[in-house]
Amino acid sequence: MMEQLQEIRCKGLGVSEGIVIGQVLRMHDGTQHVYHWKIDDADLEAERRRFRAAVALASRQVLTIKEKAEERFGKDHAYIFDAHLLLLEDEKLIGDIERHITKEHANAEWAVKVVGDNLLYLYSQIKDDYLRERGSDIEDVMRRLLVALSGAQPGNHSLSEDAVIVSQDLLPSAVAELDLEHARALATDTGGWTSHTAILARGVGIPAVVGLRDFYRRTKTGDRIIVDSSRNEVILHPSAATLKAYQAETATRARQPDIADLAAMGPVRTQDGVEVTLRANVEVPSEFDGVERYGASGVGLYRSEFLLARRGAMVSEDEQRLAYEAIAKVAGEQGAVIRLFDLGGDNLREQFQEPEKNPALGLRAIRFGLCNEDVMRRQVRAILRAAASGHVKIVLPMVADVSDVRRAQGIIQEEARNLRKAGRSLGEVSVGAMIEVPSAVFMADRIARIVDFFELGTNDLVQYTLAVDRGNDEVADWFRTLHPAVLHSIEQSLKAAAHAGIPAIVCGEMASTPAYAVLLIGLGATDLSMTPSSIPRVRRAIAGIDSQQARLIAGECLNCDTADDVENLVRERFTNRWPDLFPSMSLPARGQSQ
Ligand code: PEP
Ligand code: MG
Repeated sequence: MMEQLQEIRCKGLGVSEGIVIGQVLRMHDGTQHVYHWKIDDADLEAERRRFRAAVALASRQVLTIKEKAEERFGKDHAYIFDAHLLLLEDEKLIGDIERHITKEHANAEWAVKVVGDNLLYLYSQIKDDYLRERGSDIEDVMRRLLVALSGAQPGNHSLSEDAVIVSQDLLPSAVAELDLEHARALATDTGGWTSHTAILARGVGIPAVVGLRDFYRRTKTGDRIIVDSSRNEVILHPSAATLKAYQAETATRARQPDIADLAAMGPVRTQDGVEVTLRANVEVPSEFDGVERYGASGVGLYRSEFLLARRGAMVSEDEQRLAYEAIAKVAGEQGAVIRLFDLGGDNLREQFQEPEKNPALGLRAIRFGLCNEDVMRRQVRAILRAAASGHVKIVLPMVADVSDVRRAQGIIQEEARNLRKAGRSLGEVSVGAMIEVPSAVFMADRIARIVDFFELGTNDLVQYTLAVDRGNDEVADWFRTLHPAVLHSIEQSLKAAAHAGIPAIVCGEMASTPAYAVLLIGLGATDLSMTPSSIPRVRRAIAGIDSQQARLIAGECLNCDTADDVENLVRERFTNRWPDLFPSMSLPARGQSQ
C-alpha cells in the first residue's frame, strides 16, 4: 500500500470561485536562470547526448503545438511553428552549440545561451523588419531548449482530466502553452486579485488560489491536491477523511446554470429605469463563446497582448488583422474595443524588453508602443484594416496625460493616411483612453476633450493610486478597491467624461463584483465591462437596485476617511436596503472581490 503523506494546508487568496480535487501539474514559470559549469573530458559525450535529447524533445513539443494551433486557428496560422522546427533541425545552429560544449567544456545550458545570444545579436543588427523579427523565433526556441534541459515539465502537455497547475508565478507568457481549457484549477505562489493569472482563471472559469508563498517547492507532479477557493486554501496530500468530505461537498455544489439569467441579453435597467450596458472583457479564444452566452453587449476590452502571449513572440500585421476581425465578429453590432498592446509591467516583460528595475513604473503599455513605433504602427494598421469589415475601436493603455494621447493619435492618423494612399481598405476607428493612473485622473477633463471615450481600468487605478503592486501578495492588505482615494478618482473621471459628452466604460475587475458594480452605478457609471461569466450576477444586482439610492450611498462613501470605513458602510447600507441581493457577510472581504 502507498504510504499516506502528511496532509499540508496552505492559505492564499481565492481569486476564482470553486473547489477542485485533482492532481498537481508543476509548471515552470518560464524564467530561466542559466548557470555555467565545467564538464570534464570524460563527460563531454554524455553532455552532448543530453543536449541532443533536449533537441528531440523540443521538436516533439513544437510538433504537438503546431497540430493544436492548426486545429484551433487553421493551417494558415500554424506556419510559425515550422520556423521553430527548422531552427531545431538547423545543422549549423545545433552544431555550433555542440561545438561550444566540446571546445569550452561548457554545460549544455550555457552553450545554448551563448550561441543563442550571439545569433540574437546578429539578428538585431538586420535592417529588414521582417527578418529582424525572426529573432523572436530564436528566443522562443532557445527558451524551449533550456526548459527541456532543465527537466521541468514543458507547458504544452496534454493535460490529464484533473490537472491542477501549480506554479511559482504564472506569467501571462505561460498562457502561450497552457491549455487552460483543460486545466481544472490554478495554484500559484505569487499574485493577487487583479493579477493577470487571476483575471484569466475567472475568464476561463476555473478555480484559482494565488499568493501561496512557498507552496510550489513542496509539490511534485502527480501529488493529490484540493483547491478550495472559497476557503482561500489548497490542501496537498489530503487525508482520506478530508477527501471524503470534499467529495461530498463538490457533489452537492455542482453548479446549476441559472437559465433565466443566461437568457437575459443586452443592457439592464435599474428599478428606477437607468439603463446600464454590460460588456465583456476577453483575452483568449476560450472566452469568446461567453460573449454571446452571457448576453454581453459586445467586447468592452480585448487585452490584445494575449495574442502575443500565446506565441511568446511578435505577430505579423496580417495575423493580427485576422485576430481582430475574429474579435469583431464575436462582438457583433456592439463592437469590440481593442486595447493596444499593454506590454511591460508584468506583461510578457522578459520576451520583449530589457530587464527594468521598476517595471510597473517603466516602459509599459503606451510608453512601450511610443518607444517601439514599428510594433505600434503594425498593430494600428491591423486594427484599421479589420475595421473595414467589423466594428472595432482602439483604446490607449495607461496614458499619463494629453501628450501621450496626442502622440498616439498622430501615429494612428498617419497610418490611416498611408493605408488610404496605398489603396488599402480600412474603416473609421474611434480612439479612447484608458484612465488608470493618477495623472490621467487629474487631467481627465483635458483628455476627455480630445478622445472619443474613456475606459476606467480600476485594477491599475488601485495599484497606482495607492502605490500597491497588484501582483505582490506581501502588500495585498493595502490593495483596497474601496479606498476613498480610488472612489474619488473614479468619480472625477466619470464626471470629466460626462462633462465632455463622451462615454466611459469601467472595465477593471471591480465591475465584475455585484456590490462594487452597484457602487460604480452610484458613482455615475452606466457602462461596465467584465469577465463574461460575471455578467449574470451583476445583471441581477443592477436590476434589483435603485440608482438614486446607490448614489446616496456612494456619496456617503466619498466622505469616508478610510477603506475600512467605506467597506463597513457599504456592508451596512447594502444589507439594509437590499437584503435579498446582499445578505449580510455576502460582501467581499478586504482587498478582494467576489
Ligand atoms: C485595469 O487596469 O483595470 C485593466 C482593465 O487592465 P489590466 O487589468 O489588463 O491592466
Ligand atoms: Mg490596466
